[in-house]
Order: sequence, then C-alpha cells, then structure tokens
Amino acid sequence: MSRPIVAITIDTEEDNWGHFGWEGATTKNILELWRVQEIFEKHGVRPTYLTNYAPVADAASVAVLGELAELESVEVGAHCHPWNTPPRTREGEAASMMSVDDRETNRAKIASVLDRIEAELGSRARVFRAGRWALSASVAHALFDLGITVDCSVSPGMDWSSIGGPDYSDAPFDPYRFDPSAPLIPTSSGSMLELPPTVGFLRGHPASQSRRRVWLERSPLSKLKVVGILDRSGLLTRRWLSPETSDGRTMVRLSDELLRRGFQFLQMTFHSSVLLPGATPYAANATERETFLKSIDEVLQHLASHGAKFCTMSESAVLLQ
Ligand SMILES: [Zn+2]
Repeated sequence: MSRPIVAITIDTEEDNWGHFGWEGATTKNILELWRVQEIFEKHGVRPTYLTNYAPVADAASVAVLGELAELESVEVGAHCHPWNTPPRTREGEAASMMSVDDRETNRAKIASVLDRIEAELGSRARVFRAGRWALSASVAHALFDLGITVDCSVSPGMDWSSIGGPDYSDAPFDPYRFDPSAPLIPTSSGSMLELPPTVGFLRGHPASQSRRRVWLERSPLSKLKVVGILDRSGLLTRRWLSPETSDGRTMVRLSDELLRRGFQFLQMTFHSSVLLPGATPYAANATERETFLKSIDEVLQHLASHGAKFCTMSESAVLLQ
C-alpha cells in the first residue's frame, strides 16, 4: 500500500461560536494558534489554515497569521461566514447557510475574504470551505468564477437540513471531481475537486455503514433511539477525524479502520476557536484544552509512525487529481 496522504484543516475564525450577528466578532483565539502549530512541526505536518474574514480584519491576529503564512509548511486557504462577511446582507442563524444564497451574493462575499487575505498576508487562497459545511451549486459556481477549484465543505454522511443546510447523506467519502452545477455528483471530467474531511465508522466501510445509518434514521425505528444504541454499542459507531468530538484513541482507531480498507486520503479538521478556553463546547477550560491538544498529538504520532505523507490541501489536490 502506498503511503496515505494526510491533511489537516483548521477553520481559522472568530471566537464567537454560535453567534450569527454582523457585529461583535473577536479573534483572541488566533493568538493561541502556536500551541497547535508546535505540535504540527514536531510531526512534520503541513497544515492548511482556512481563514475567514474576521481574523484578517484584525491587526493582532494578522500579525500571528502573517508569521504562520511565511512558513514553508503552511498553506492559508479561505473560509466564509456569510453573516459577518462584507458586503452586508442578511444576518442571524436563519441566514447562516450560504448554500441558499445566490451565486452573485456568494461571489461577492468569497471575493471579500480572498482579497483581504491577499492584502494582509500576501498570498491568494486556493482552497475553500463554506461556513457550516454549506456547499451548493451557487457556492461552487462562485468559487469557480473566482478561480478556486478545490473545496472541502462536504461532510459525507451528514444531514444538515434540520438547520437549513445541505443533506450530505449520499455524498462520497473519498475525494472526487465534480461540476459546479452538481457538487454532490462525482464526474471524472469535472472542473472542481472535493477533498472531504474524514468522517467514518469504527467498524465497516463508511459508505455501506452510512447507508444503514441513514435508513435507520428515516425509519420508524428512529423513535426507539436505535441509532444511538447501535452507535454506542460499536456496531454503527460514526466518528469524525476531529479532536472536537473524538479522543486520540478513537481517532487512531478510525484512521486504522479506513487505511485498512484502502482509503488513501485522510483529513483531520477542527476550529481555531477551540484553542480559546470557554469559547466553544469542545474546551471549556485550560485543562480541557490540554486534553484536546494531547489528542491531536496522539493521532499525529500514530499516523507519522505509520508512514503518513503529510500534505497541505493544495499538495493533496495535486496528488489526488
Ligand atoms: Zn466556520
């Protein structure tokens, strides 16, 4: 088996988890990014910081991001929260999914992020993730218009429709090419590339396990909480390769299961705001942040010792074309 390609994406954004207003973004968490960058450097990881508008609109966080962007091992990509990205449109949670906005609105907002990153950090982002995983044809067309052909917004198997977002129940778990008009349909001649974050099951192939899970979730059995029981029992345990919701041991198990099944690409992902204790549900205090950092260290140590080829997202895209 060839060496697996492993990418790490960090949604690099404001502190204000769950706040969907135009005003009030703070970016203290960006000053904490070196805590995780040190771990990346220890293992030879080549991270991709997917930066949204707020951190590049603040002098103190621009100073930190500027230092990171100068490192040869670091890529800066783009991320967009439509509620606080100019031009100002709607706001509030109901307006948080850019997947429902039109192509022109999305193009204007994504262009704001790209232009501000370029003005402050001196480089043009080449990889994108929509806030709240909200990809759609109107987002993909906007990206294509702006010259971005690599996206990582699709979270396979997840259905965000209850909060107004896309339904990725049938989305591929592997990287795939697609046309902007149909972002969830793999097309070998497609002009864009999707590199999905790693979601999988601790046992079984993710595609077949996900079909079972979706079927159960939509059946009358869902009322009996069968999915939760099967998840906890280990039979249908779905986990993300993310230290937010999986501990180090679980991420090691998930990685091993996917690599054993022939997956060639893994992508760990998390939000920068977890590094500010109390800002998110994933690290309420400094002790929990320490646990969070240790779990990242644990899975990276494991992947490095198993021959992982750590790549930025653009490097991954070249290798996986
Ligand atoms: Zn975000």
